[in-house]
Amino acid sequence: MFGKILIANRGEIACRVVRTARRMGVRTVAVYSDADAGALHVESCDEAYRIGPPPPRESYLCGDKIIAVAKRAGAQAIHPGYGFLSENAEFAAAVAAAGLVFIGPPPAAILAMGSKAESKTIMGRAGVALVPGYHGADQDDALLRREADAIGYPVLIKASAGGGGKGMRVVERSEDFSAALVSARREAKAGFGDETMLLEKYLQEPRHIEMQVFADTQGECVHLFERDCSVQRRHQKVVEEAPAPGMSAARRAEMGAAAIAAAKAIGYVGAGTVEFIVEAAGSGAFYFMEMNTRLQVEHPVTEMITGLDLVEWQLRIAAGERLPRRQAEIAIVGHAIEARIYAEDPDRGFLPSTGHIAHLDAPLPSEHVRIDSGVRAGDDISRYYDPMLAKLIASGADRPEALRRLGDALAQYRVVGVATNVAFLQRLIAHPAFVGAKLDTGLIARHRADLFPPATAPSATTLAVAALAEITRRRERAAAAAVSSSDPYSPWHASEDWWLNSERAITLTYAVDDAAYPVSVRAAGDAWIVDALGESMSASAATGRESPAFDIAGVHVAAEVVPLGDERHVFCGGEAHRLRLVDPLAHADEEPRQGGHLTAPMSGAIVAVLVKPGDAVSRGAPLLILEAMKMEHTIVAPTAGIVSAIHYRQGDQVPEGADLIDVEAEADKG
Ligand code: ADP
Ligand code: ADP
Ligand code: MG
Repeated sequence: MFGKILIANRGEIACRVVRTARRMGVRTVAVYSDADAGALHVESCDEAYRIGPPPPRESYLCGDKIIAVAKRAGAQAIHPGYGFLSENAEFAAAVAAAGLVFIGPPPAAILAMGSKAESKTIMGRAGVALVPGYHGADQDDALLRREADAIGYPVLIKASAGGGGKGMRVVERSEDFSAALVSARREAKAGFGDETMLLEKYLQEPRHIEMQVFADTQGECVHLFERDCSVQRRHQKVVEEAPAPGMSAARRAEMGAAAIAAAKAIGYVGAGTVEFIVEAAGSGAFYFMEMNTRLQVEHPVTEMITGLDLVEWQLRIAAGERLPRRQAEIAIVGHAIEARIYAEDPDRGFLPSTGHIAHLDAPLPSEHVRIDSGVRAGDDISRYYDPMLAKLIASGADRPEALRRLGDALAQYRVVGVATNVAFLQRLIAHPAFVGAKLDTGLIARHRADLFPPATAPSATTLAVAALAEITRRRERAAAAAVSSSDPYSPWHASEDWWLNSERAITLTYAVDDAAYPVSVRAAGDAWIVDALGESMSASAATGRESPAFDIAGVHVAAEVVPLGDERHVFCGGEAHRLRLVDPLAHADEEPRQGGHLTAPMSGAIVAVLVKPGDAVSRGAPLLILEAMKMEHTIVAPTAGIVSAIHYRQGDQVPEGADLIDVEAEADKG
């Protein structure tokens, strides 16, 4: 076995490979771009080397730099992960030429499968069924259109070099063919530098079923059963599972044999996936679609049903060992489902969402719940790389049990800072079509109305939780400031008293889109009375619990509220709500600003002054409370500094625009 390997990748797959390497006592070398200097994969490896600026062309796709690092670090082999250089035959050859081992198939096998057109020619010869279509070398426009007409519409135009669902166009009518060809070529040229196209009959609502294969250098080949990856959006996988619902033993053996024939036809070595498209109607005929000559994103579902570690198998085979098991020694136990968690906005066409992950809570991993992630709170999702945050995989004795666990785990995901597809995934896996295992590639599009419902208004409980968390947070902040002040008469204590003893109802207004939801809260002994949406509820924060919780109208509610700027992310009952706290005077979470005069945004009454001239205040410290328009507004310090003047006293009426209080910023002094 290797003593040390280099992982030529980033994110979750790099972290995934490290876990197995570490367990096997193999040391790991990370490479990283400037965007990833602080990334989890860098931290996870034994050593890490910078290879260039953020764009992949200048870092993760620079094979020569990566090979040089491997030599320098004394690694004996390179694991390419998926994407990037994993299916680059030239890179695989260069690795071998440098005297290192490429943990993957031989360059010739990558080359044979790298072109979908060529791979179909090879598979056709090996006797594997192909989707009716055209994959010839002649790319003449008129010829392609004649071929499309002969196939019959709808026809799928596919980039031969394509991947990740890109470079494909469905054409419904002959008249539309030429325009679609032009645009598919443009996308393929830009994405893959190759505009060779092939044509396929576009199957109606088929299933995507793929077989995991493994071959060793001695010519042995086995399959590790199938994965059903039919649930897709824009030809990209969203949820994958194994075994495929409804798969008969006979059909499995047939597809397994076809996959092994495909691998043997090209002298395959290592982990590979043969993708088939399966007709929904009739006998359910299956056709070869493509072979991915690498570890697949969704390999964990196979690991969970077989109890095998596919990365371990990859390392053993690359080191020259025989396949760890024979076909008869590999069995399916139970069921596993994977959901891909992306930083993206499903309501805006699944647009990737870049930004800073301010908060991230993932479910706890267990024997039946696995989380493969490459990010943590505090990381940035940049525009340079795939926005996948994590893969969540759940297993069970059967599909319903795995599905229940997946649902429970998804409900525990709490991400703030970037948009995610978590709520979409929750709706998807709870949809009767998915629950009933009526899987095909049209599922998401067909149930669009159910899966993309209009936003619903927050419930009274959600609003009560938000308001209670707000009050608790402000009191804690005031108390912490009072403790850190050496002055026992510090006005911070006044703030504490004010919150505790006020008979007055505090009104907090939350907004969702254009709708405003006022919530009024008033102290009632140790608890609070909360009025929202016409309901009056007694409420309190539940103490002594492991995770944050509230008692709302006699019901125990596990909930958490995460503030981000003026947003309040309420996680409650497995749902996430993003509310905006409307408070024209709350500047606590804004960027640091200059000190100066703080003015009243509207006329009102001063109900509390919490500081005195000369006090040192930190940024965000409450200074004064103004009641205006039946709402309480806390004026906070816009910056750390010294209170230089207070122009009003408690009880004073102030006009709009009045100078209330002056704070001299720390940096302004001297
Ligand atoms: P899977 O079948 O495992 O879902 P995909 O084809 O969707 O595989 O791609 C898996 C990963 O590899 C994705 O991150 C995708 O963006 C990346 N990828 C796929 N093809 C290419 C390619 N030709 N060049 C670069 N990255 C690719
Ligand atoms: P990629 O390299 O992007 O993964 P594939 O050829 O594997 O490209 O196709 C991706 C997806 O597109 C498939 O999983 C399937 O949902 C859909 N697809 C591909 N070929 C066809 C076809 N002939 N008819 C219907 N859908 C297809
Ligand atoms: Mg594919």
